[in-house]
Amino acid sequence: MSVPIVRSVAQLRQIVAAWRREGVRIAVVPTMGVLHEGHLSLVRAALVKADRVIVTLFVNPKQFNSQADLAAYPSTEDEDAAKLAPLGAHLLYAPDAEEMYPAAFATTVSVSGVSEGLCGAFRPGHFDGVATVVSKLFLQTSADFGFFGEKDFQQLQLVRLMARDLDIPITIVPCPTIREADGLALSSRNVRLSPAERAVAPELPSVLLETAERLARGSPVLPTLAEARAAILAAGYREVEYLELRDEADLRPMTSLDQPARLLVAAWLGGTRLIDNVRISRVSPD
Ligand code: AMP
Repeated sequence: MSVPIVRSVAQLRQIVAAWRREGVRIAVVPTMGVLHEGHLSLVRAALVKADRVIVTLFVNPKQFNSQADLAAYPSTEDEDAAKLAPLGAHLLYAPDAEEMYPAAFATTVSVSGVSEGLCGAFRPGHFDGVATVVSKLFLQTSADFGFFGEKDFQQLQLVRLMARDLDIPITIVPCPTIREADGLALSSRNVRLSPAERAVAPELPSVLLETAERLARGSPVLPTLAEARAAILAAGYREVEYLELRDEADLRPMTSLDQPARLLVAAWLGGTRLIDNVRISRVSPD
């Protein structure tokens, strides 16, 4: 069994229109390919909730702020399709850049507030690229549900707000971060790590979790974050772009744990940029 692949908006619309006539519920799982268990967990969750699941594979040039990063992004479409077939995904939508952005394409979707700071501060234009392509994918697929990983937490909150603000009738379903046995969050970028870097990489989630526990027990925010930064660097990371405590709902910066929060990090290990985040809710003193 293989998964059908479509490459044009017109083909996609034809299939979706037939599904609509059957009255089935449709889910979309947007990806940039190089599928791993994190992506597949989204597809499995989508198959539970919807009757038809469209996985999209599009390496979106507009969300790369570095040409080198875009050029280095791996492409494994055949392997990706082979991973999707046994799960029972119904369609792989893999347009090329000309199909997605025809000549004289002129529109940008920009979400203020939630896209500022964190990754938004270090990857100029990235979230405009994400919001633009995801809104197009939602309109092209007319899906009832969109599945997104908490791994990219700022992206998840941005997509939720964008769909709500633009009245796109889709329910966004968040899915938990899938990790390797040693705690490292699965990412298409992990393949770029050398064996020595791969050995050090799990220090990031380990410091993140330990810091989240300390904060939950009432440890003061700023000094605790400063110690955590130092621990990440001492472990062998080259640079910590950000390590911040943010309100889980609107990503507002927090200096005390008065609301459910997320601790979010981006750090460079050699030439690879890794991101991660964990939830924190305050442990009430006995
Ligand atoms: P990407 O291909 O990196 O753009 O990711 C596509 C989708 O998969 C996004 O919604 C990501 O948040 C999600 N994703 C990526 N890595 C993981 C992971 N380790 N666990 C859960 N979801 C993930």
